[in-house]
Amino acid sequence: MADLQEVILEVDELEAIRLGDMLNYSHEKAALKMKISRATFGRIVNKARQKIAEGMINGNAIRISEVLPVQFKTKLNYTCNTCGYKIKVIRKNQIKNCPKCKS
Ligand SMILES: [Zn+2]
Repeated sequence: MADLQEVILEVDELEAIRLGDMLNYSHEKAALKMKISRATFGRIVNKARQKIAEGMINGNAIRISEVLPVQFKTKLNYTCNTCGYKIKVIRKNQIKNCPKCKS
C-alpha cells in the first residue's frame, strides 16, 4: 500500500457514506444524526463519493484521516504520561511533546 497514491477520506465523509449509502438514510435523517444541515451533508457525501470513485478508478489507496470531525473535537483529551498534564486536542497525533514537561 505504501507505494500507492493515497486518497484521504475525512472522518465526517466516511460517516456520511456510512449513514447515507450503507444504512441508506435519507439526507434529512443523516444530516440530523451528524448534527449538520442537509446542504452540508449533501456536500460532504458528494465529496466522499467523488474521492472513493477517484480512488477506485485510479487504483489509489483509500485512507481514513486521523482528523476528527468538528463534533468530536472537544471530546478528545491528551494526557501526558510523564507529568499527567491534560490538554484538549483536535488530532490524535497533534501533540509530539508535552507543553509542560517537554517529554
Ligand atoms: Zn508532561
